[in-house]
Amino acid sequence: MSLDDNLTNHPNDYEHAEVTEILEDVALYRTLVSNVYMLGKPSEKEWFLIDTGVKHYHERIIAAAKKRFNNVPPRAILLTHGHFDHAGSAKALAKYWDTPIYSHAQEKPYLDGTLAYQPVDPTVGGGMLSLLSPLFPQKPLQLSKWLHTITEEQEISFLQGWKIIHTPGHTPGHISLFREDDRTLIAGDVVTTENPESALAVFFPIGKIYGPPAFFTKDWDLAKKSVEKVASLHPKLLLAGHGLPMKGTALTEGLEHLITNFHSLAIPKHKNDD
Ligand SMILES: [Zn+2]
Ligand SMILES: [Zn+2]
Repeated sequence: MSLDDNLTNHPNDYEHAEVTEILEDVALYRTLVSNVYMLGKPSEKEWFLIDTGVKHYHERIIAAAKKRFNNVPPRAILLTHGHFDHAGSAKALAKYWDTPIYSHAQEKPYLDGTLAYQPVDPTVGGGMLSLLSPLFPQKPLQLSKWLHTITEEQEISFLQGWKIIHTPGHTPGHISLFREDDRTLIAGDVVTTENPESALAVFFPIGKIYGPPAFFTKDWDLAKKSVEKVASLHPKLLLAGHGLPMKGTALTEGLEHLITNFHSLAIPKHKNDD
C-alpha cells in the first residue's frame, strides 16, 4: 500500500481517533510523523490547537477534538512554524472551524503564499525524506485568510499562563510555548525526541533528545542558541513536535548532552568538516 492510500483510505481511523492525555489540560494527537497538542481542559469551553500535522489529517484531528471538547471548536490554531508536517492540515482545519491561525511574524512569508521552504540539505534526508516526499507541498502555503501574526513579547489573552518563546534557527519564525507554573515546554522542532532523519525511528521512538530535523534546518548557530534558550527555562516536561514526551533527569541530562555535543549530535557531518 502506498503512503497516500494509507493516509486517505482508512475511514475508521476517524471514528477511532483518540488523543493521549498528558496533563489535565494538555492532550497529544499523533499524525503520521508529527504531534499536535490540544491545550485546555475539556470541562472549560476554551481550548487551542498547537500545530496541525501533515495534510489529510484534518478529519482525524476534528474527530479526536470533538470527543475531547464536546464539539466546541478551538479558540485558535497556533503554528510553531510552517513546515508541511506542522501546517499541513491548517487550512482545512481553519476552514472547518472558522478559527484564526497564529504564527510568528517572521514565519508569515511562508504562510501567506510569498515563499516556499526548500530542503536546505537534502543529503541528510535519509529514510524520512523519501517516506514523506509525497506530502511535500508543490507551492507555498496560502493561509492569509485566517493568518494573524504574533511576536515573543506579545501577550495573547487566550494563552493563559503560556508564553511564546521565539526559537529561530530551524526556521526564522519558529516559536515554542512555555508555561512557568509547571515548567511545561511545547518545543516544536527546536529539539526532537526521536531521530527525525531515520524512517525507522519515526515508528519506534526511543526517547533520546536530538537536534532539529536537519534537512530543513536553515541556521545551525541560531538553532543551537534556541536549544540553549529553552534549556535555560529548566523545563520539567518536554513536548516536542516529533517523538514522545520526556521529563525528569532524562530531559535535563538530554538537553545538557545535546548542547555540549551539538556539533557532533545535531549538525550534519559534512557541515562541520571545515
Ligand atoms: Zn520543521
Ligand atoms: Zn517537524
